[in-house]
Amino acid sequence: MEKILVLVHVDELGGALPKIAMETLATGEELTKALGSTLTIGIVGADVEAAANSIADCGAKILGVVGPEFAHSRYASDAAALEAICRAADPTIVLACGTSRFARVMAGVAHRLGGEIDTHITSVTSTDRTGVGRWFYRQRIEAVLERSPRPWFLLLDGGVHEPWRGRAGVANVELVPVTLPDLRTNVTGVRAPKTDEQTIRPEAKLLFVAGAGWTKKQRDGQVHTNEAEKLITDFLRSSGASLGSSKSLVEQSGENQAVLKFMTHMNQVGQTGSTPRHPKGLSTCCHGEEPHVVGWRFIRERRAVNLDPNCGWARGKADVLYVADAFEVMKHLNALVAERALAMI
Ligand SMILES: Cc1cc2nc3c(=O)[nH]c(=O)nc-3n(C[C@H](O)[C@H](O)[C@H](O)COP(=O)(O)OP(=O)(O)OC[C@H]3O[C@@H](n4cnc5c(N)ncnc54)[C@H](O)[C@@H]3O)c2cc1C
Repeated sequence: MEKILVLVHVDELGGALPKIAMETLATGEELTKALGSTLTIGIVGADVEAAANSIADCGAKILGVVGPEFAHSRYASDAAALEAICRAADPTIVLACGTSRFARVMAGVAHRLGGEIDTHITSVTSTDRTGVGRWFYRQRIEAVLERSPRPWFLLLDGGVHEPWRGRAGVANVELVPVTLPDLRTNVTGVRAPKTDEQTIRPEAKLLFVAGAGWTKKQRDGQVHTNEAEKLITDFLRSSGASLGSSKSLVEQSGENQAVLKFMTHMNQVGQTGSTPRHPKGLSTCCHGEEPHVVGWRFIRERRAVNLDPNCGWARGKADVLYVADAFEVMKHLNALVAERALAMI
């Protein structure tokens, strides 16, 4: 019989479990029920009490590795912690949340346990045999994989399963001792941009895409880059949307053309960019060519604003295309959002 282990860690603030951990737990619970097997949860963090209490209702055995050495991501301490939990739980299938912290360490842990690993898992099914879904070739082909060797480690992508929603309570955490190796890396803190400066927001409900049109000559024969920057940043601030870009726009900085200063290659969506998973998307000044739109695969409701009624979005790639000037549309939209914010005070 399979034995399922779900591996999670507390969030950067050190208290709660991140959303992706709840999604992994829900997947693990579903798989456990389908296989009629047993579920164990392993949590890593400086203090895991609050995190364990938040999932007390799941009824699974909870193992914890606790201590200041486990507050932050570091290969040596995380690998030792996860190895210790795996040896204590002795699982056949390990579901781990695919955060950057676990992504860097999980293959090493699988190797230490003599197991095998698959990453970027988007679904776990168990009819006759357990199979897992994974996208290939820039999200164009979906495959279902099976493996016989155990333990089988699966690193789950975020946003592909509803999060676990049970009641909190008082959980009993069994602490697992860890023998740490010599730690060469000392984590002195985290330096990150302020939240409102962060333009990539994976949890946002809306993806706002800016294309190269924002920096092109407009009807008056002039470029309006400063106005474009203000319209876009005002909208991002008031809506909380995540910012995506076309390839053409992010590449302009290398070509000495007018650029939007906050845009980097990290924002690029598409075949050679990212494939984000927001429920809604709004594209502006972007032509909607296939290499870009392939990155919208998981965006369920799509709207676009383009001056060109024959742009790519018009060819079945958007649910709604507004044939309009994005400068005017965004000015109007920002005014509406500001009005609504005022009404709510
Ligand atoms: C191998 C390969 C991989 C690629 N990978 C990617 C990728 O990952 N991501 C990606 O994005 N692209 C990718 N591309 C490039 C892609 O094919 C397009 O060239 C690119 O997406 C075009 O960007 P754009 O639509 O912003 O610019 P443009 O094609 O220049 O379009 C600008 C649009 O803005 C509109 N516009 C201008 N002013 C306004 C206004 N005031 N209001 C409304 N609309 C306005 C215009 O009508 C036009 O449609 C790839 C190409 C190749 C060959």
